[in-house]
Amino acid sequence: MGYSSVEAHKRIERLVARTVGGVPERKYYRFRVDRWYGGIVTGDCVGCGLSCKFCWVSDKVRYRPRFVGKFYKPAEVADRLTTLAGRRGLRQLRLSGGEPTIGKQHLLNLLDELKGCGYTFILETNGILLGYDEDYAKQLGRYDFIHVRVSLKGCCEEEFARLTNANPEDFKLQLKALENLVKHGVECHPAVMISFSTKESLNSLLRRLSEIDQSLVEEFEIEELILYPHVVERLKKYRLEYLTGYTPDRVPPEQI
Ligand code: SF4
Repeated sequence: MGYSSVEAHKRIERLVARTVGGVPERKYYRFRVDRWYGGIVTGDCVGCGLSCKFCWVSDKVRYRPRFVGKFYKPAEVADRLTTLAGRRGLRQLRLSGGEPTIGKQHLLNLLDELKGCGYTFILETNGILLGYDEDYAKQLGRYDFIHVRVSLKGCCEEEFARLTNANPEDFKLQLKALENLVKHGVECHPAVMISFSTKESLNSLLRRLSEIDQSLVEEFEIEELILYPHVVERLKKYRLEYLTGYTPDRVPPEQI
């Protein structure tokens, strides 16, 4: 039995989200333009409740949420994202991390700020809080310009636990997130880290996804390890063997 993913998210929330003068603030450590999705402006949040052994967030950010980054108001985040997008002529915005669903009210207020601005907004999440709190998925249904990418950590309970050290049953929260999002009409798809998975477990996951909604199988995204030096170090530390992975300059074009 591992840790509770929900409790871990709630614990980290106390460090990276706060309300000042009635305004919900959230910690970010950078805003940048990135190559994914054909070019996208990205805000990187501080803090996540999972402890994936292959996580690409640097140790400096991952293990020091109290000390890194800065608190931003929703309007400030909207301004940072849209200013960068304007400079580069981009129409796509993204929150990644860290886990951007930590700080529910902050995220919802940020989406209110961006509503009607003509951007597509991609929310990259591990889905734990969206599986735990159906109302969160329902609230996201108010925004027709968002797309949620739920990153599944492995293809089954056993792989999830091996990759995150969390309670294996919490894998069901990741699937539940997709179920909740589909139910409330939020555009979404699963991205699945398959670098540690067998064909059998992948096929079994596809069956489970089809039971939720066939569109999740059709939109299914393969995610494989990107072997940044600090990720390789981490894998060595945990003695975690992988089946597939790419150096950052060799990521297949269909995964960019
Ligand atoms: S869910 Fe993402 S940010 Fe959180 S530990 Fe896993 S890989 Fe890192």
